[in-house]
Amino acid sequence: MTNIILLGAPGAGKGTLAGKLKTTLNIPHISTGDLLREEVANETEIGLKVKSIMANGELVSDDIITAMLKNRVQKDDAKNGFILDGYPRNLEQAKELDKIITNITDVIEVYTPFDVIIDRMATRRTCPKCSAVYNTVTMPPKTENICDVCGTELTQRKDDTREVVAERLNVYEKTTTPVIDFYKSKDAITYHTVSYKEDLDVVVGKFKDLFQA
Ligand code: AMP
Repeated sequence: MTNIILLGAPGAGKGTLAGKLKTTLNIPHISTGDLLREEVANETEIGLKVKSIMANGELVSDDIITAMLKNRVQKDDAKNGFILDGYPRNLEQAKELDKIITNITDVIEVYTPFDVIIDRMATRRTCPKCSAVYNTVTMPPKTENICDVCGTELTQRKDDTREVVAERLNVYEKTTTPVIDFYKSKDAITYHTVSYKEDLDVVVGKFKDLFQA
């Protein structure tokens, strides 16, 4: 059983790492941002409530997001493990998660400096259907603007503009740093740090050996 939490600033590379890890480890990638974007796209009651909050780069209320996450982790496909991305985003959420899941095994922090993130986000493209992540400069799809995985046309996230990215990084710095300290202090959880400079396939290979040993 491998229950992983991914930590790191928006745009640090969590989604890209998660995409590779989920295939390698055969466990689902649960992204609270993706769950919310689905609600917005489907214009559900929750979607209508959170649309402008997300567009401004602010955090959605803990109640909404925690209820949503609880539903998702209880689904059958998460029984043998999962990769959690985007939650917890503050200390309150970390404490709530402790009540929902008592056996988090690993935390992986993806570290990328803010100036690198700001440059990267302008050229980030995502697949609205399967959430695969690309970069027009460093990681382009095989066919221009088309998802390699499912063939859907790629889009730029509305919150990937420079101003909103700056706000999201600001929010991250304030709220997530205590979460990092919270997990580092827990003996039962192994804390890993991955740097943006490392080769992603090498990183994934190491985790494969570690988790499947
Ligand atoms: P992400 O895809 O993780 O960058 O999330 C996109 C947006 O969704 C964030 O800027 C928040 O508005 C919202 N969001 C995602 N996860 C959470 C969370 N755990 N708590 C509050 N808001 C969240």
